[in-house]
Amino acid sequence: MQILLKNGILLTEDHVPKKMDLFIDDNIISQISERVGVESDYVINCENKIISPGFVNMHTHVAMTNMRTLLDDMPFSRFLDTGFKLDAVRTDEELYFGSKLGIAEMLRKGTTTFLDMYYGEDMVAKAAQEAGIRSYLGWSIVNKNQTTQKGDPLKNAEQFIQRFRGNDLVTPIPAPHGIYSCERDDLIASKDLADRYDLPYTIHLSENRREVYDIVKKEKKRPVEYLDALGFLSNRLIAAHTIYVTLNEIKIMGKNGLTAVNNPVSNMKLANGNFAPLVEMVQHGVNVTLGTDSAATGNSLDMLENAKLSSLLQKNYREEGSVLPPHQVIDFMTKNPWKVLGKNAGVLREGALADIVVVGGEVGQVPLRTDNAESILIYSSTGNDVEQTIVNGKLVYSEGKYSGLNIDEIRKKNEEIFDRYRSLINS
Ligand SMILES: [Zn+2]
Repeated sequence: MQILLKNGILLTEDHVPKKMDLFIDDNIISQISERVGVESDYVINCENKIISPGFVNMHTHVAMTNMRTLLDDMPFSRFLDTGFKLDAVRTDEELYFGSKLGIAEMLRKGTTTFLDMYYGEDMVAKAAQEAGIRSYLGWSIVNKNQTTQKGDPLKNAEQFIQRFRGNDLVTPIPAPHGIYSCERDDLIASKDLADRYDLPYTIHLSENRREVYDIVKKEKKRPVEYLDALGFLSNRLIAAHTIYVTLNEIKIMGKNGLTAVNNPVSNMKLANGNFAPLVEMVQHGVNVTLGTDSAATGNSLDMLENAKLSSLLQKNYREEGSVLPPHQVIDFMTKNPWKVLGKNAGVLREGALADIVVVGGEVGQVPLRTDNAESILIYSSTGNDVEQTIVNGKLVYSEGKYSGLNIDEIRKKNEEIFDRYRSLINS
């Protein structure tokens, strides 16, 4: 397929947006210039619209999307207990339709790649492939005595990796769940699994105070120091949340080339009481990225909502308006993820993978100019302003229509599933 994006304001790698045409041939950005003079199968008029690299949601649990609102407004411990209670009874079909619901929302709101953590990732992979979204699917590894999975989570993870290795759009990865749900041996074995298959791996880290206190009590070390001593850290590790980290821990993260994922909406909604210290992380060489967490915690899968809040929280807390300007936040959700995921993507450059979104400049976002386009995207836009989403050169979402998803069926199935869960919680 060929797609020609005409006359849009392109967000460039050097953060000097320009009015340009962009031509996609097969799955690659083939030409960017002021006027592309080739015939194309498909032309999108991007006048008064922003053309951005696709957003990368670096932390979510997409199969939980049909649990949205069921875990609202609970103390953290009750949230976990209720979530685990539902996890234990979910069927494959429920994971599959929950994933489709989440993927539909992500595509509609400009996410072209997501990184997931859950069990039953085969169902997520099936939904992702049908929808045409790019995905990194982390099979959750939890200690054998704590898991709701059938069989040994570590073996399940390895078998999942073997099943999907080499797939074009799906990359299977290990996902040790957290330092409170994995024992020392589970963590070491998870890292070993990632090493053997040369894969990124992901973990929840320092998400709440309790987790930090418990490990300090048990190991006499803070979470990052504990993982460093285990040999768990590397430049392939993607650590989600990392909100309770000291300056020493940030330095260790930077020295090991870690990627951190900031999830401000989820952290605030779960009342975790903090947010990742992004300014210090950048200063010390941590690769900063953004995520939504699940729709059961953050309630929406909107990267632009998380991008805006990521910037505003730091400005407000520091009483310093100059920190985290839009261009830096755009890198967090487009370019930086690919430093760890390792593909030529996340930038609008000839030869890069064609994962692209077109964002409309509607009333309220006027005037849209080349010199304010980044500000309009981060401070004035929401995911609902996304008009087209292109993944791997294919137009997978355009103005309410999906190429690979049947929205009516997804809605109907998920309403039934939601009602079943609601009665289970209330019983
Ligand atoms: Zn999470």
